Amino acid sequence: MADTSKYHCTRCNDEQQHRGVRWPEGFVCRRCYQQATRRRGTCPRCQRPDRLLPGLANDQPICTDCAGIDDPRLTCTRCGDQDEPHRRGLCARCCLTDDLTAEVPRV
Ligand SMILES: [Zn+2]
Ligand SMILES: [Zn+2]
Ligand SMILES: [Zn+2]
Repeated sequence: MADTSKYHCTRCNDEQQHRGVRWPEGFVCRRCYQQATRRRGTCPRCQRPDRLLPGLANDQPICTDCAGIDDPRLTCTRCGDQDEPHRRGLCARCCLTDDLTAEVPRV
């Protein structure tokens, strides 16, 4: 017997999505997680520019530090930048660099 209330997404109120993360605000389904980790900008709380803003406070996106989100997957293991998890521990930019390096034929 599945306890669906455990999977009540705090953002979209969906209970059918059983894949997601647990953040301080509650369960966030995979769909909302993806949306959240694509948001970037200046955090309205700490005013730091170019932050990943997956948190939510009063309907405002806030950064991981302000939201208390401790998710190592959001930090690129190579360049240390925060981004939507793209490929095993690497941000989109580092993945792209890898792809380009791999695809460019050597002259
Ligand atoms: Zn959701
Ligand atoms: Zn912040
Ligand atoms: Zn990176």
